[in-house]
Amino acid sequence: MEKYDVVIVGAGMAGLTAAIYVARAGKSVLVLEGKVEGGQIINTVDIENWPGDMRVSGVDLIRKIKSQVEELGAKIDYVNVVKITPKDGGFEIFGDMDEKFEASSVILAMGTNPRKMSDEQTKSAGKRPISYCATCDGALYKDKTVVVVGHGNSAKHEVKYLEGICKKVYNIHHDEPIPEDAEAVFVAIGRIPATKCAEGLVEIDPSGYIMADETCHTSREGVFVAGDCRVKDLRQLVTAASDGSVAATEAVKYIA
Ligand SMILES: Cc1cc2nc3c(=O)[nH]c(=O)nc-3n(C[C@H](O)[C@H](O)[C@H](O)COP(=O)(O)OP(=O)(O)OC[C@H]3O[C@@H](n4cnc5c(N)ncnc54)[C@H](O)[C@@H]3O)c2cc1C
Repeated sequence: MEKYDVVIVGAGMAGLTAAIYVARAGKSVLVLEGKVEGGQIINTVDIENWPGDMRVSGVDLIRKIKSQVEELGAKIDYVNVVKITPKDGGFEIFGDMDEKFEASSVILAMGTNPRKMSDEQTKSAGKRPISYCATCDGALYKDKTVVVVGHGNSAKHEVKYLEGICKKVYNIHHDEPIPEDAEAVFVAIGRIPATKCAEGLVEIDPSGYIMADETCHTSREGVFVAGDCRVKDLRQLVTAASDGSVAATEAVKYIA
């Protein structure tokens, strides 16, 4: 079985930044990613608050960070982590295809996933396509009628974007049925932390976020948390990167 100084779960901004810091500290590091590296920001076309770039796309930003991570010698593997258990002073990390890894320390950086519609609302959508990203899929519905579910800031952003493309855009609440004539459904009703694989390992708050303060220490020694899946006030790229650097530095100290 492969053994690493640090295994990082999640290759979003937090996990990739943590990998840079661990690799530069001369420790072996493996990043496990269940989908594609980059996380939530990958579909954003214009990021305007990443220092150093007036405007940058999520794809370009992550591509640059990924090559930096690999050039520094960190490894990225595509594994969906389902369980992490303590073993002999270290940890065992299990993937959903029976993969198994060992590490002296673990950094949890799983971010968040979009919240899904209720069963009732999903039923009312029938076989119509459901999307969580207007920027990604909006162009498919040019001159068609669509509906945006949700009334928060991100839903407003989706409505505005789709109004520039579609013939008609409905905007409904999370408890209303999907209008009969809508041809596609865009869901923007918030996000939920992707912390299932850490259940039983570390303390998690009632909303599903991993309990930790600015030091990124979790309730379990040797396990650190970084980015949007942690309890915090501001979930942004710079705070995810900041957490990544802190969690990695703490993990390296722990190993020493
Ligand atoms: C539409 C949108 C636009 C945004 N725009 C901006 C912006 O302009 N500026 C800004 O600063 N912030 C923006 N944000 C917020 C920003 O994207 C997040 O704060 C940041 O990406 C969080 O990074 P993260 O690494 O903590 O989590 P994520 O980006 O969520 O990455 C987590 C990664 O972990 C992986 N993962 C999850 N569970 C597992 C598992 N069990 N096993 C293996 N891998 C797993 C996921 O697949 C994902 O790749 C935006 C967010 C959204 C949704």
